[in-house]
Amino acid sequence: MAQLAKKLKLKGVLLPEATAEEANLIEGIAVHPIQTLSQAVEFLQNPECLQPLPKYSIRTQPNHPPNHHDLDFSDVKGQHSVRRAVEIAVSGNHNLLIIGSPGSGKSMIAKRIPTIMPQPTLDEYLEILSIHSASGYSQEFDPKYPRRPFRAPHHTTSDVALLGGGSFPKPGEISLAHNGVLFLDELPEFKRSTLEVMRQPLEEGTVSISRSQAKITLPASFMLIAAMNPCPCGYHGDPKRPCRCSLQQIARYRSRISGPLLDRIDLHVEAPSLTIKEIQSTQGSEDSKSIRIRCQKARAQQTQRFAHKPLAYQQCNAHMTSQELKTHCSLDDAQLQLLHDAMHQLKLSVRAYDRILKVARTIADLDDSEPILEKHLLEAIQYRNLDRALF
Ligand SMILES: [Zn+2]
Repeated sequence: MAQLAKKLKLKGVLLPEATAEEANLIEGIAVHPIQTLSQAVEFLQNPECLQPLPKYSIRTQPNHPPNHHDLDFSDVKGQHSVRRAVEIAVSGNHNLLIIGSPGSGKSMIAKRIPTIMPQPTLDEYLEILSIHSASGYSQEFDPKYPRRPFRAPHHTTSDVALLGGGSFPKPGEISLAHNGVLFLDELPEFKRSTLEVMRQPLEEGTVSISRSQAKITLPASFMLIAAMNPCPCGYHGDPKRPCRCSLQQIARYRSRISGPLLDRIDLHVEAPSLTIKEIQSTQGSEDSKSIRIRCQKARAQQTQRFAHKPLAYQQCNAHMTSQELKTHCSLDDAQLQLLHDAMHQLKLSVRAYDRILKVARTIADLDDSEPILEKHLLEAIQYRNLDRALF
């Protein structure tokens, strides 16, 4: 409402105290908090009696803790390759699939991703707040401390709750995750038809909901983090516990996730079960703050690179257009050959090819390297884990 009032060039809005602070983030509109309707009447008779809230500016503070939590990456033992993949994913806003046995710490890691996410810009934060506000959830956010949403719907969540809609249309989980993270644990347990609908938002950053009278489009640009077991029993490839599944069972389980959906997940990484040594280790791992600083730095390079793009969420490597891929991901002849061979051997799709380039760009950014080097490309290729398995 405050955004609309500003657009209509109105001077100010009267709002209940509970939501006034959040509306006050919008520049150029006076926000008067009121407690009762008689206060509103009084204000209309005598505008002097109620001052607008003072404006404050949100300063970007790269080091301020983005969240409430007591969660930190220093709690995560071992899992070096997953940690690395998470860092790359957050740096470039890439989608990530973590495959591992029960107890390997997949969801423990996913829950800590918000602690390393770069702070949203004011525009991004206003989008987050307006979606949550429309759903009645904005009290989960502090207007003064911008943070990104982390949504983790269960696989039994209804399509309407997940994708949005209903007789009185409301944003679903994928819109509530806009400019943040959507975490889908146990990915193959989600209905296949539901996952297929997810392809549009993954491609376009929006979701269309068909209604009897009209079609509405809602923002839904999120980073998808998914987790799954390697097979129905969970222990395929585990060195300590035998897998009891047949090859057919494993193939059927994995085929619940379609190739086109998998193609849209930039990084696939395996989370092996921890060794006894890792479990008993008392040495703390690297903390969230150190990782976050690297992610922020890599993201800042992208913001600069894509500064001409109008929408903040498009200013990242994951959302490069094919023209931008040509400009920012040029490879030399030897690298082209390398990628060509990998595509052939791993039977990768054209879409996977683009994903590899985008991820390689982010790895090079983390390495502070303008050109993409062979090592960056090789690392990006190895995150196409599942393509070469049973699909
Ligand atoms: Zn199994």
